[in-house]
Amino acid sequence: MQNLKNKTVVITGGASGIGFATAKELTEKKAKVIITGRQKDSVEKASKEIGAIGIVSDQSDLIQIESLVKNIAAQFEKIDALFINAGIAAFAPVSAISEEHYDTIMDINFKGALFTLQKFMPLLNDGASVIFLSSINAHNAMENTAVYAASKAALNALAKVAAIELAPRGIRVNTVSPGPVNTPLWGKVGMNEEQLSQTAALIQSKVPLKKFGSSEEIAKTVVFLTSDDSSYTTGAEFIVDGGFNLNTLVG
Ligand code: NAD
Repeated sequence: MQNLKNKTVVITGGASGIGFATAKELTEKKAKVIITGRQKDSVEKASKEIGAIGIVSDQSDLIQIESLVKNIAAQFEKIDALFINAGIAAFAPVSAISEEHYDTIMDINFKGALFTLQKFMPLLNDGASVIFLSSINAHNAMENTAVYAASKAALNALAKVAAIELAPRGIRVNTVSPGPVNTPLWGKVGMNEEQLSQTAALIQSKVPLKKFGSSEEIAKTVVFLTSDDSSYTTGAEFIVDGGFNLNTLVG
């Protein structure tokens, strides 16, 4: 892995799960890392633990995105990588999707991601790397995930267009799409303990590698995309899912 020592990297939703594991690995590789999150306590605790800078900012709020950008511009002027990771999952069958369910998911996962990229564009150094955290749900149908899946499919489309538009500045835009990963996200989807463990067992049985991924396993791919080792990679989607998307017919 090439040296990440001089890289300044912003990670949204970096206080837990995949964002935190990525921030940790990047600080260990001597990058300067700024993590964001909505809750002051968890952002402060996480940033202190790994020697990152923590800034409270809600990805669904354009005013907060703008002040985040101003704050980072004042401290660092420019950044080398932007990992747009913050996201939520909530499940509902199509018949029960409310406007609130739709708005809450889309505002964070898609609208917020889009405007985070847009507002950070002036701060991205030429040759910078942008990574979106999507999901295999963008491709594969799973009951009760219509809005979540649509939010991630929209991200994939955005990433490809942005890759073309930012290529003249040498800025690369890629997407990482995990399968099931063992993170706090699952505790917030609205299932009780029993439903969660049944769902986890079912998912696990269908993953060829027979396990959930860890945040660290996803972080490795993000760190690769952050580094200059991926200098010829743009507009790509990296599926990191233990083979889940293969949809094995027998076995
Ligand atoms: P997580 O809940 O641990 O991490 C998400 C982080 O984003 C949390 O720290 C949360 O506080 C933060 N966040 C949520 N809304 C925010 C907002 N409005 N503004 C700022 N921060 C906000 O879960 P995770 O699994 O690490 O999720 C990270 C990303 O991975 C999400 O985009 C999620 O959709 C995606 N993903 C997760 C899985 C999985 O199985 N865990 C699979 C595929 C994709």
